[in-house]
Amino acid sequence: MPDGLAPARIDELASALGQGGWIDGGSDDAAPYLTDWSRAFTGSALGVARPTDAAGVQATMRFAKSAGLGVVPQGGHTGLVGGGTPYSNANVIVLSLKRMNRIRSVDPLNYSMVAEAGVILHDAQQAAMQHDRFFPLSLGAEGSCTIGGNLSTNAGGVNVIRYGNARELVLGLEVVLPDGELWEGLRPLRKDNTGYHLKHLFLGAEGTLGVITAAALKIFPRPMRTACAWVATPSVKDALKVLEIARAETGDAIETSELITRRVVDMVVEHMDGVRDPLPSDSPFYILMEASTTRRSEGGESPQEMLEAALGMAIEAGHATDALIAQSDQQRAAFWQIRELAPEASQRMAKPRVTWDVTLPISALPEFYDAAAKRMAEVAPDAVFSGFGHMGDGNLHYSSIGDRVKEQREMLDRTLYDLVMAFDGSFSAEHGIGQKRIDELQRYKSPVEYRLMQGLKQMLDPEGRMNPGKIVRMD
Ligand SMILES: Cc1cc2nc3c(=O)[nH]c(=O)nc-3n(C[C@H](O)[C@H](O)[C@H](O)COP(=O)(O)OP(=O)(O)OC[C@H]3O[C@@H](n4cnc5c(N)ncnc54)[C@H](O)[C@@H]3O)c2cc1C
Repeated sequence: MPDGLAPARIDELASALGQGGWIDGGSDDAAPYLTDWSRAFTGSALGVARPTDAAGVQATMRFAKSAGLGVVPQGGHTGLVGGGTPYSNANVIVLSLKRMNRIRSVDPLNYSMVAEAGVILHDAQQAAMQHDRFFPLSLGAEGSCTIGGNLSTNAGGVNVIRYGNARELVLGLEVVLPDGELWEGLRPLRKDNTGYHLKHLFLGAEGTLGVITAAALKIFPRPMRTACAWVATPSVKDALKVLEIARAETGDAIETSELITRRVVDMVVEHMDGVRDPLPSDSPFYILMEASTTRRSEGGESPQEMLEAALGMAIEAGHATDALIAQSDQQRAAFWQIRELAPEASQRMAKPRVTWDVTLPISALPEFYDAAAKRMAEVAPDAVFSGFGHMGDGNLHYSSIGDRVKEQREMLDRTLYDLVMAFDGSFSAEHGIGQKRIDELQRYKSPVEYRLMQGLKQMLDPEGRMNPGKIVRMD
């Protein structure tokens, strides 16, 4: 406990937050808030505040200010860079938004809904569906991650090619500022040119500038017919050609385009129960691709027919060697299993591994892919290096698995990231900076960009209360 903080003061906050609103940091119940989903990050905290409304968040922030404590906002704790995990430092409290989990309103005609920060992503999707609408953000952790965490990490997922990142799905925000003041910016407008668009400061800020308590989100017409294909392709260059043909031939109805390697298929089949290889063959790459339309009326070509025609053209041109189109929901789920279980399967491998999440201009992917494989093999010849993921938006999740990769980490990081920067890419596509990439941010941002980021942090959070020690260094 920090000097001068009387236990009675904590009791005051606990009673303001109501039953179940405070967990002592030393109790067993606090454990899930102190270790993240991947178990790579663990810390400690004075306690966990669990407000049920924005007034509770304000009370927590005011308490933290008066007691000189840092605050670590947290949603589902599924972020993979340690952003929502405190450091081992008793001078912080974790602020869990999970009990702020109401859908406040859905306005189908305005194509918008207002969700609180702690709404689980899957529940937000369902709420839109109940009003015959579609909330397109979709990712492997959607059963546990929250809207607040999604927006604070500017999450991507599998539908970015058509709908954009989380940032592009937000109309307005409600935010509690570091001093406890509430900014009510929930305007559900598509056009609002009234000066600086403040919402963008908090999107992707990983809880370092304020606490998102609710968001006005865009929703869309519901896809009525979807077709899903599993395509074998000889190279990354060919995979991009398949995507190009499919986008053109389906009237740009492609929602998902995931690159999956033979190695990933083998890994998932070997380590996860009940998973089968959809298309046993020795193709080095596969594409998981989906097309959908929102049309209700019969007539016209279905997504399945359009995809069949496109893939036929791709095979004829030699860009694909084989393709399966799912004939049932069950078969579609079987294709998706390979993609969605990949992170868990790689965790089950006995060998040490290191991972990266990079993004490139889409057109640079083929050349980058080959160059990265060559350079990483020079640094760690005994390790298995492979990349897969959201090809349609240029984002690849890489991993290196081998006995010595942890010792080689610094060299591997430098080799991959230097190459990414040489190709005009980014060293963090989706997961953010958190604790894990704080050195990289300082190394790879230009001095002017880094200084601007420090300036924003200084202006909004002059006492350094919000998620201390994450994203930018202030010293
Ligand atoms: C299996 C798996 C698959 C994944 N797939 C993807 C993927 O495809 N695409 C992708 O982009 N990401 C993916 N992720 C990581 C992704 O960042 C998270 O799943 C999700 O967006 C984080 O939400 P969360 O509620 O768990 O946030 P947390 O992990 O709790 O927090 C993440 C960050 O946001 C901050 N934060 C949380 N809530 C708030 C709030 N209300 N206000 C201010 N700051 C807040 C935290 O301080 C932290 O810095 C995946 C993770 C897993 C485990």
